[in-house]
Amino acid sequence: MIIAIDGPSGAGKSTVAKAVAQKLGFSCLDTGAMYRAVAWQALSDGVALDDAEALGNVARTHEIAFGHVEGDPVPRRVFIGGAEVTDAIRTAEIDRAVSPVSAVPSVRAALVDQQRRIGNAGNYVVEGRDIGTCVFPGAEVKVFLTASDEERAHRRVRQNVDRGVGSIDYDEVLADLRRRDELDSSRSASPLRAADDAVLIDSTKHYIEEVIDQICALAADAR
Ligand code: C5P
Repeated sequence: MIIAIDGPSGAGKSTVAKAVAQKLGFSCLDTGAMYRAVAWQALSDGVALDDAEALGNVARTHEIAFGHVEGDPVPRRVFIGGAEVTDAIRTAEIDRAVSPVSAVPSVRAALVDQQRRIGNAGNYVVEGRDIGTCVFPGAEVKVFLTASDEERAHRRVRQNVDRGVGSIDYDEVLADLRRRDELDSSRSASPLRAADDAVLIDSTKHYIEEVIDQICALAADAR
């Protein structure tokens, strides 16, 4: 079974996806981390962010892998081409670089291939922007998770404080979220949008535990 969770930055997708996966005994896949890893690799290699061909090559030629910290069932560690980039992909620099990278069709094609290979291997909660519309249009459960801009920015600041990486300036984080939403929604290749058959959940008005329970109930109904 595939549970697709799409939505804008900071809506709580990662927290919810990981918790649902743990409750149901599913694996989970953070596709945003994959676009971030390609952006990191491109910056490390000095590839210009407007060089679509070179960006596509970076995505095609670098394997992305996930790993566990011992004792933690959720795969939080991220690797590209063998290098660990778990923290390096959460910086403000990568926040700025990732949207132009993810708008390149050849980058998307390479990563969607990898995502389908991973997801088709078992029961997965897959989070991203285009999971229900493009990567797994046949997903048994599709959720589009949103929250107000201000709530999303507050959550992202708290997350960055906890992780010790990324901006902790509320205004900067709010501006970045809005800029990325605009870029992600207006690009021509698989823009951010809810699938027609997705269940819309606004997490501003609900405790995160309620959202997790609601998605688990949808999965039970779909079995
Ligand atoms: O989810 P996260 O904020 O880490 O995603 C980072 C960026 O990766 C997004 O702003 C978007 O540009 C891109 N992305 C995407 N498609 C996905 C997941 C993420 O284009 N399925």
